[in-house]
Amino acid sequence: MNSPDTQNMELIHKIQNIKQQLGTSVVIPAHHYMPPEVVAISDFIGDSYKLAVLASKTDAEYIILCGVRFMAESAAILARAGTEHPQTVLTPDPVSGCPMADMIDAIQFKLLITMLQKKLQKAIIPVTYMNSYADVKALTGEYNGSICTSSNAEAIVRHFIEQDKPVFFTPDRNLGLNTAHKLGIPDRKVFIIDKTGTIQGEGNPTEGLLFIWDGFCHVHKNFTLHDIKRVREQYPGIQIIVHPECDPEVVQAADASGSTEGMYAKLKNAPGGSVWAVGTEINFVKRAATEFTDKTIIPLKESLCFNMARINLEKVLASLESILNHKAVPDNPLKFKLSVDASVKSLAEKALRTMIDLTGKSQ
Ligand code: SF4
Repeated sequence: MNSPDTQNMELIHKIQNIKQQLGTSVVIPAHHYMPPEVVAISDFIGDSYKLAVLASKTDAEYIILCGVRFMAESAAILARAGTEHPQTVLTPDPVSGCPMADMIDAIQFKLLITMLQKKLQKAIIPVTYMNSYADVKALTGEYNGSICTSSNAEAIVRHFIEQDKPVFFTPDRNLGLNTAHKLGIPDRKVFIIDKTGTIQGEGNPTEGLLFIWDGFCHVHKNFTLHDIKRVREQYPGIQIIVHPECDPEVVQAADASGSTEGMYAKLKNAPGGSVWAVGTEINFVKRAATEFTDKTIIPLKESLCFNMARINLEKVLASLESILNHKAVPDNPLKFKLSVDASVKSLAEKALRTMIDLTGKSQ
């Protein structure tokens, strides 16, 4: 039996071979949390938003998005439609979901926003994290809201509350609370909406500025104050950086927090010889440690996103082979085509464009 390394080399060789045959008609973007062998066969890496934007700007007819389903959906939202050079998005594993995105659906979203508008007697603006499904993004557009990423949540929320427009923030509680903290919004103006739809908080909801849905990412909730204490004792002088999906007390006890792209840049530009513990998905931390060898980079704790880990070389190869077969005989199915309904695409794109307009960030 071949060793995993030999098997990977064989798969990588087959993938490169098909990629060469397909040329620029296919592009393979990979999220930062992909394992190294998938990163090795990708054309570029990034966070979900960057991948969707960059893929849509390529000439590729087929985009094989190596990430979880909401990321492939985001690529499909921004992909070229119509008859001239349309783009088709494939996900190597249609079952690769995201438990956080699963924590709110379109029906709950609509019920909650209606309930809040009634209670507040005024319009409430939805701000929806990228880590959500296309129908929730579309409702965000329908209610004149905006998508946000972990790097621009602060700017987007600030924009609306400065206009005295209360914000309904979904789906991540921690990103919402950490954003409120960064903006200095008083606790009495911040409320959590729990799974039963109950508004929880100290103040009077009619004076509230930020209403946060109670979702979470298990990968980032995994980090604790105990982890921070442990690494500080083990490595005196260590610097700790964590993702804002971590609990607020963890973010506040760390030395810095940042989006995946932000952490990548910070670690890259850190002085040689510096020592870092990183609180985010383990594949990202391992890759940063391999790439930035002039620093010592360790995980704050090993925390794996098992949905991301569903994407592997075998599945990417199957997607590529399906493109070849589909080109030869159009009835042959693509593995696995991800489509977003035209009306969902247009409203979700509207919410994404609002984010771009508000931040001037096109990728
Ligand atoms: S790391 Fe968290 S938010 Fe990202 S895909 Fe995995 S479960 Fe979802």
